[in-house]
Amino acid sequence: MARLRFCDSCGARLPMGASARRRYCDDACRAQVYRDRQVADRIWRLGMMLAEAESAALPDGTALAGVSHDSSA
Ligand SMILES: [Zn+2]
Repeated sequence: MARLRFCDSCGARLPMGASARRRYCDDACRAQVYRDRQVADRIWRLGMMLAEAESAALPDGTALAGVSHDSSA
């Protein structure tokens, strides 16, 4: 029984004789997945940085209160 396998990038059906390790229909699709992953990773890291900055500054306004307190004293 022939197993149908599909490109992980564009979903096109891979050739019947494609090796078991093959995941993409061609190098363009493999490169596309690699680029998408790098972009997604960058966005994820940016989101983590923003989340950390917000959780550090927002809960009780310590950062802003500290600035105003220092300038008045
Ligand atoms: Zn493809």
